[in-house]
Amino acid sequence: MAISSEEMQHLHQRRTSSYEVRLRTLFDTIQDLIWLKSPDGVYMACNQTFERLFGATEAAIVGKTDYDFVDRELADFFREQDRLVSATGGPRVNEEWMTFVDGGNRIFVEIIKTPMIDASGELIGVLSVARDITERKRAEAQLQLAAGVFDHAREGIIITDAQGTIVDINEAFTRITGYSREDAVGQNPRLRRSGRQTKAFYEAMWNALTVQGHWSGEIWNRRKNGEVYAELLTISSVRDAQGKTQQYVALFSDISAIKKHQIQLEHIAHFDALTNLPNRLLLADRLQQAMAQAHRRGQQVAVAYLDLDGFKNVNDHHGHDVGDQLLINLATAMKETLREGDTLARLGGDEFVAVLIDRDGIESCLPMLTRLLDAAAAPVLLGEVVLHCSASLGVTFYPQANDIEADQLLRQADQAMYQAKLAGKNRYAVFDAESDHSVRGHYASLERIRQALAADEFVLYYQPKVNMRTREFIGVEALIRWAHPQQGLLAPAHFLPLIENHKLSIDVGEWVIRQALQQLADWQRVGTLIPVSVNIGAMQLQQADFFERLQAALKRFSTFQPYSLQLEILETSALEDLEQVTHFIKQCGELGVGFALDDFGTGYSSLTYLKQLPISTVKIDQSFVRDMLLDRDNRSILDGILWIMRQLNRSVVAEGVETLEHGRALMDLGCETAQGCGIACPMPVDELPAWLRRWQVDADWIEVSLVPRTAV
Ligand code: C2E
Ligand code: MG
Ligand code: MG
Repeated sequence: MAISSEEMQHLHQRRTSSYEVRLRTLFDTIQDLIWLKSPDGVYMACNQTFERLFGATEAAIVGKTDYDFVDRELADFFREQDRLVSATGGPRVNEEWMTFVDGGNRIFVEIIKTPMIDASGELIGVLSVARDITERKRAEAQLQLAAGVFDHAREGIIITDAQGTIVDINEAFTRITGYSREDAVGQNPRLRRSGRQTKAFYEAMWNALTVQGHWSGEIWNRRKNGEVYAELLTISSVRDAQGKTQQYVALFSDISAIKKHQIQLEHIAHFDALTNLPNRLLLADRLQQAMAQAHRRGQQVAVAYLDLDGFKNVNDHHGHDVGDQLLINLATAMKETLREGDTLARLGGDEFVAVLIDRDGIESCLPMLTRLLDAAAAPVLLGEVVLHCSASLGVTFYPQANDIEADQLLRQADQAMYQAKLAGKNRYAVFDAESDHSVRGHYASLERIRQALAADEFVLYYQPKVNMRTREFIGVEALIRWAHPQQGLLAPAHFLPLIENHKLSIDVGEWVIRQALQQLADWQRVGTLIPVSVNIGAMQLQQADFFERLQAALKRFSTFQPYSLQLEILETSALEDLEQVTHFIKQCGELGVGFALDDFGTGYSSLTYLKQLPISTVKIDQSFVRDMLLDRDNRSILDGILWIMRQLNRSVVAEGVETLEHGRALMDLGCETAQGCGIACPMPVDELPAWLRRWQVDADWIEVSLVPRTAV
């Protein structure tokens, strides 16, 4: 079928018009900005994207130049650009910010300008295509920033793929670990493992990474040179939109310096600075562990409490530096006698505790205890001087029939140590749980007694002394009591023995004197004068400045009346340094302070000494008084003592008068002054007036007093 020329033309027209339409559609659909200018800078066409961003229609733009839209300077610049393109004849690519007047859009564009040349080679215009690359630029800048952080971070950074293979590390990684990029990339971070963490540790770490997507903690890793160091490490998993892990990023810092400092601090907290032995805190820990282990293994733990004998002497005579050096030497020597697993701790001063594990009764410990004592008793050569100490040791065992705590064990061992001291020092004593039963619970530590003193828990009770014949009230003996907040009122037997050889006994003794003087002053204020006798411990009496201290105490009470204070001392403590004590007694006598010899008959009872001591009063020990009713022999001994006292011109006070019977029997022997529960038990000060009223009318004692005086 032939097509007419008319039809042909129509077809051509349609094709052409639809071709142009398509071209125009294409032109407008392109997301790039396209515009066309004539060689002399007049806009010839632009697409819709340009219109949109420019904020004007094509019709409003075409026929105008840049001078119509932007300031002169910029228009000159555009003009120059176009000219350059025209001159070189080839396309030019530029990147620049484009700011549109309308809407204030500011976008970063990449512009390609191409000269348009027609078939005859004539320049007919400049075509510009600009692409918005703002987003890409922004992303690049961010990447650059990240890369900067990555490179300059002080923290080491590792990036691994999802399988854990290292894909990148930063400079800090190399600085900290010593591994270069070549060493690390392609490896697994495992290469840094120190072997110090358990399998369970890594399992927990991976578990946290999988569940929470991150993990953070301290970890020991190894540097390339083999050195193990501590790291603070944070690992995060980088996941895609579906939650699938793409990468792991680990950030770590070297905290070995902090760790080292921390370890030092811990050492200071747990070790004694002088001897470097575990201190009380660490001992408590080790003892707990040893006790738990003994349970598991069915073995025993032995706890040995050591106190050096004569250490104070070394300090006093050679100074603290020598004393310290001696402690260091002895600590080392004693420690060497122990086995691995055993602990030797220093509690402070000259007190040590050894915890011996895997024991089986005292026999299994004996060789070791003996070695410990030998080590403490070995002479130590320090410079020119040879020093000699020894130790008293108390030992106790765990487990016991009753449940027992660690601190009770220590107290038991301490108590046994005290027994060893009493028995003559440089020996050991085993704690006897049986005999302890009655005192358990009342037993108190030195420290607790010190606290009691500070917290004012001690009180003085007063026991009257009377003349049974005249029924005269002649004074009181002050007796210390401990008003223990939990255990109630404790008699001195429960705490004084503990501090007997300790400086603390002096503090307690001085408190008693002050308290008694205060009481005297209080009575004085209300016009009463009741002489008080106070017991003086051995150590207190042996202080070189005992007299000066007493004098100072008296000075603080201006109302002090001579002869209202008497000091009771024991034969044993008086005899330790007879000359010195005699001197004190004389000095005190000048201040109006009298002395009595307490518990007479229980010590050496050497009458020669007694004769020498310028003491006015002797107190007959209660054991004589108690026993004299039992048989005639005791009675004759007492009779003899009383006779001698009269010859020596000493007054006598009988202690422990528990009944009227005692009173009568004593009176028969010519002893009239007495003290005891039969008359009055020790009492708080405010009960004294009521007792005195009763005493004055007590019919029974009135009857006793009526017994005719025996010829003496
Ligand atoms: P002591 O000086 O011989 O005191 C007499 C003790 O006999 C007191 O015991 C007293 O309570 C007790 N007693 C009183 N009447 C009777 C009685 O009829 N029968 C019996 N069986 N005992 C009676 P306490 O108070 O327990 O004191 C015991 C020892 O503790 C005292 O013996 C004394 O040596 C010492 N003591 C007490 N207070 C102090 C003090 O403040 N400092 C010092 N260093 N020692 C003290
Ligand atoms: Mg006494
Ligand atoms: Mg006594």
